[in-house]
Amino acid sequence: MNDPKMNTIMCCFLLILLFSLVSCENDDVTQNDTTPLEENPNLTIRSSFGGTLYVDGKYINKTLPADIKLSKGTYLLSVGAEGNEAGYYRKEITIDSDSIPQEIEFTKEDMVNPKKWKVLWVTYSKTRAKDGCQISVSQNSIDIAYNIFLDHLEKIEKDAFHAITWEVVQKNYTTEEAPVANESENNTEEEWGLDWTISLEQLKKDFDFNDFDLISFYWPANSDNETSCDGYPLNYGGIASPIPNGMKTIVGVMEHPFINNRYGIQHPSAYTHEWMHTIERLYPLKGFELPIDPGACCTAHSGEAFGYVSSTGVDTFYEDVFKGKVFSEERKVYLGIGPEALWLYQTRNFEASLLDAERRKVAID
Ligand SMILES: [Zn+2]
Repeated sequence: MNDPKMNTIMCCFLLILLFSLVSCENDDVTQNDTTPLEENPNLTIRSSFGGTLYVDGKYINKTLPADIKLSKGTYLLSVGAEGNEAGYYRKEITIDSDSIPQEIEFTKEDMVNPKKWKVLWVTYSKTRAKDGCQISVSQNSIDIAYNIFLDHLEKIEKDAFHAITWEVVQKNYTTEEAPVANESENNTEEEWGLDWTISLEQLKKDFDFNDFDLISFYWPANSDNETSCDGYPLNYGGIASPIPNGMKTIVGVMEHPFINNRYGIQHPSAYTHEWMHTIERLYPLKGFELPIDPGACCTAHSGEAFGYVSSTGVDTFYEDVFKGKVFSEERKVYLGIGPEALWLYQTRNFEASLLDAERRKVAID
């Protein structure tokens, strides 16, 4: 973080951001015609590695080589590639004439360094309810959960064409007990699951949350042998984009209880689902439109409304959100975050003042 080179890059990024805000205020956004027209294309875009094409960060349902038509103007072209040349490539181009054919070639030099998202992974081996009932989970189960978590991060990274990568810092509480609410005593929705106020207060001694994009809690809601305490919250819980007091920037916070149930150690898509809850409210603030079912709370719960139905379809939905390619039949547009948005804006790049401090717990399963 203190690398001066990184600071320079960050300054450039801020400048670009400033200019893009200015152009938004001048209402220049609509001047670019980014709709690819099949007739009379004036731009041929190639690469030796194929790839999915984005124009100004938007998915346009084209893979390289592609012929598209763009009107006069300046555009950001970007490409997400898989395979041997997997990565995220971007370059700015200017179209001086919409009738003179132009060719653009993406090469290795156009690949960007992934933005490093920083995660604090926090685990508790023990939990005690307010009535004194205590349970614990083995280090082996925690290690399994951690490895599944890493698998999910890796999948997200791949879905985003490596526009982002992860740095995970671990904090494992082996003797301290997870501070959880007990439903039998506190029967309000706000008070089930982990008591974040206490957990975050403990962590504050060792970590500056402003340096992180995500804090992920893991704690035992029952034991390896399926022992549980009365009134324990046996739901999965995740909370979207909360802002602990005193924070200047937003950090995503989520929690996952260890439950020895039919899923084994962990629900197959829980981490990605809850992570989406931590970011889904942010990208619309920067003009990236996410798919949302009007009847659902949010993007993470909107897969079915966009035709993603099976349990595996849920994962495909998340992948398409990260790729920005969820198609709205109704509006005939592609929706989602996309690699450009993930590369430009990390959770900790968003000012805390942009969101209210509302805490929202959302159960899945
Ligand atoms: Zn949810």
